[in-house]
Amino acid sequence: MAGSIKAVRGTRDLLPPETETWNFVEAVVREVFRVYNFHEIRTPILEDLQLFQRSVGEETDIVSKEMFAWEDRARAQSEKGQWLALRPENTAGVVRAYIENKLWERPGLQRFYYIGPQFRRERPQKGRYRQFYQIGAEVIGPPTAGSESPAVDAEVLEMLATLLDRLGIQHWILELNSVGCAADRQRFNEALRAALKDVVHKMCADCQRRAVTNPLRVLDCKVPEDQPIIESLPKMNEFLDEGCRAHFEEVRKILTAVGVPFKINNRLVRGLDYYTRTAFEFTHGGLGAQNAILGGGRYDGLSESLGGPAAPGIGFAIGEDRLVMTLQETAGTAARSVDIYIAPLGTGMNVEAARLARELRRESVSVIVGDDSFRLKKSLETASKTGARYALIVGENEISSGQFALKNLGTGEQITVARNEIPSKVLPAK
Ligand code: AMP
Repeated sequence: MAGSIKAVRGTRDLLPPETETWNFVEAVVREVFRVYNFHEIRTPILEDLQLFQRSVGEETDIVSKEMFAWEDRARAQSEKGQWLALRPENTAGVVRAYIENKLWERPGLQRFYYIGPQFRRERPQKGRYRQFYQIGAEVIGPPTAGSESPAVDAEVLEMLATLLDRLGIQHWILELNSVGCAADRQRFNEALRAALKDVVHKMCADCQRRAVTNPLRVLDCKVPEDQPIIESLPKMNEFLDEGCRAHFEEVRKILTAVGVPFKINNRLVRGLDYYTRTAFEFTHGGLGAQNAILGGGRYDGLSESLGGPAAPGIGFAIGEDRLVMTLQETAGTAARSVDIYIAPLGTGMNVEAARLARELRRESVSVIVGDDSFRLKKSLETASKTGARYALIVGENEISSGQFALKNLGTGEQITVARNEIPSKVLPAK
């Protein structure tokens, strides 16, 4: 026998009943986005590789090590193929779409959200996959529309707090920092480089590499032995210019006023090049090593670096896989059960069972139609196994009288109901 084909490493099937939790999450976030006036955008999964090189940054782990990218077949022999990539994140695609579709011509700030798969060739482990899902949002627009305001940052963070609360996620921690503007970061990078010179030989191999390519990333290191060294390095907040300092202060002031708790984390720099000023992560203790549920920040120069007009913005991406994991571990959301199991009383009843099922489903009642090998005890057992809340028996007498036996499979109680009253007996009162 030929070997069976497996899902590609780092990818997985999402199966029922777990998909119920995914649907629950997506329904809640769509409702929160509606209330905060965010609108859905869907960008392609496939993009030009250069998009990520120019936005996320060539020196980042994501672009240098984790991209699924390849040269596409050339159209003619004389031509070279275009380099394509599966998107590793969605902010770059949204900003590309903003530029390409001239969305700055629309009035005010653009407020987008997206839900979809992202791809990174990381080492798979619990909470880390090569195809994973993000729910994200972006607020972007010309400076004249107020896109630089710290009030936007605070509003986005407050929405996230509301969103996690609505989902029933408890004990989340908002970690907040300002990574300043490009000039601040350059000065900080230089200071880091200088400070690292004498100590980097004592650090891990990754840090030794980062110290050369991207010293900021040293602050992300999780190796325990490196921590005391990192603690002694210069801190980002000492390098903020007046504008960035005031911006950060205002964000914190609003958050405090509206009652969103946060923790300042001076070492939070985030892995992508495009971030400026406010940077944040929400973490959750239940997730273990991969404890970030979501991350985001401001990206004021991103549009320009992709050839667009000035369009400051702020956004975030929630790891949906991790969100679902947190919910399953903490809340244990119950799988939704089907309302009615219809048990046809013998083969002659298939037609009537189908007709009744159609009527009930059109009234939003969820229905399983049982098979017609009717034996009362066996049929009720099957109905219970499916998790149905009620069993409905359909025989000649029921059809001619229009009165049906409806058995509550939880309590065992049985009642007789008229055909048109079945939906109201099984659906929760509105
Ligand atoms: P990032 O774009 O790296 O800031 O990621 C934002 C969020 O996406 C993280 O906080 C994680 O929750 C999630 N995430 C990132 N990479 C992965 C991955 N490989 N597998 C699962 N979730 C991920």
